[in-house]
Amino acid sequence: MVKIYTDKDASLEPIKDKTIAVLGYGSQGHAWALNLRDSGLKVLVGLEREGKSWEQAKKDGFNPMHTEDAVKNADIIIFLLPDMVQRTVYLERVKPHLRSGNDLVFAHGFNIHYRLIEPPKDVDVYMIAPKGPGPIVREYFVKGGGVPALVAVHQNYSGKALEKALAIAKALGATRAGVIETTFKEETETDLFGEQVDLVGGITQLMRSAFQVLVEAGYQPEIAYYETINEMKMIVDLIYEKGFSGMFKAVSDTAKYGGLTAGKYVIDESVKKRMKEVLDRIRSGEFANQWIEEYGKGAPTLVKGVQELENSLEEKVGREVREISLRGKPKS
Ligand code: NDP
Ligand code: MG
Ligand code: MG
Repeated sequence: MVKIYTDKDASLEPIKDKTIAVLGYGSQGHAWALNLRDSGLKVLVGLEREGKSWEQAKKDGFNPMHTEDAVKNADIIIFLLPDMVQRTVYLERVKPHLRSGNDLVFAHGFNIHYRLIEPPKDVDVYMIAPKGPGPIVREYFVKGGGVPALVAVHQNYSGKALEKALAIAKALGATRAGVIETTFKEETETDLFGEQVDLVGGITQLMRSAFQVLVEAGYQPEIAYYETINEMKMIVDLIYEKGFSGMFKAVSDTAKYGGLTAGKYVIDESVKKRMKEVLDRIRSGEFANQWIEEYGKGAPTLVKGVQELENSLEEKVGREVREISLRGKPKS
C-alpha cells in the first residue's frame, strides 16, 4: 500500500517563519489563503488586477497587493491562478524578482510538467493538489476536517521540499484526512484524464445522451431528467461512501441484473479504446498544445460548448426539477 501522510507525519516547523504569497484568490486561492492564515502562517495575497477577487480578499481581512509586491516580499510563492495564466505571470512578474532559496508551489502540475514554466535551479518546486474544489477545502477545514491532497516534489534545492509540501498540506487541513505522494507527471496526466473521460466529460455526455434518448422516444422531459441525471447524485454518494458493491447492495436485483448486462453493452471495449487514445494525447503533450492554442484564440470551442450546454433542454428542465429535489433535501 502507498504511504499515507497524516497530521503526525507533518510539522509546520519548516515554514512557520516564512512569508507566503498566494497568487490568485479564486476557487483554490481564497481557501488556501484563509486556511494557511488560520493555521498561524504569514500570508500575502497577490493579484493581477483590482477586480472581484481583490474585493473579496479585502472583505476577508487581507490587504491584497499587486503580484510583484507579494513576490518581492515572500519566501514561498503559490500559483493559484488559472493554469493558462500562470506562464505569463511567472515570466513577467515572478521570475524577475525570484531569489535563490525561494519556493515555487503549485496545486496542479500542468505548467511544470509541460515546461510552460521552467524555474531556475536554485529554488524548490513542489505541489500540493487538493482532491476537491476550493470552497470544500475551506468548508471542511472550518468544520475541523480536511480534503485529501497529493504532494509532489519537482525540484529539491533545499533538500527540504517534501517537508515543506507536507507542512502546507497540514496547514490546509489535508493531513487531517490523508496525503499521498505522487510526481508532477502522474498528477498532471491522471488529473487531465479523469476530468476528460470521466468526471467532467464522460459523465456529462453519458447523462445527456441517456436523457436525449428518452425524450426523443416521447417520454416527458421531467421524468427523463429524474431518471438519467438527477438520481445520479444518490448513486454516486453511495459509491463514494460504500464502493460499487455497497451501491449494488442498495439497488434492486432487477437494477443489478439490467445494469450489469446493459452497462457492459453500452460502455464496451470500443469506449475503452477511445479512452486510451485520449490518454495517449495527454501523455504526448498533444492535448496541452491544443488547449494552449485554443486559449490563445479566446477559447471559442469552450465558449460555444458552454453556451450549447446552457441552452439545452436538459438544463431548462433541470432548473425546475432541481428546485423540487432541493425542497425535499433536509437542512443539515
Ligand atoms: P480560479 O479560476 O478560481 O482562479 C481565479 C483567480 O485568478 C482569481 O483571483 C482571478 O481574479 C484570477 N484570474 C483569472 N483570470 C485571470 C487573468 N486572465 N489574469 C489574471 N488573473 C486572473 O482558479 P482555480 O482556483 O480553479 O485554479 C487555481 C489552480 O488550482 C490551478 O492550477 C488549478 O488547476 C488548481 N486546482 C483547482 C481545483 C479546483 O477545484 N478549482 C482543484 C485542484 C487544483 P479575478 O477575480 O480578478 O478574475
Ligand atoms: Mg482534478
Ligand atoms: Mg484538473
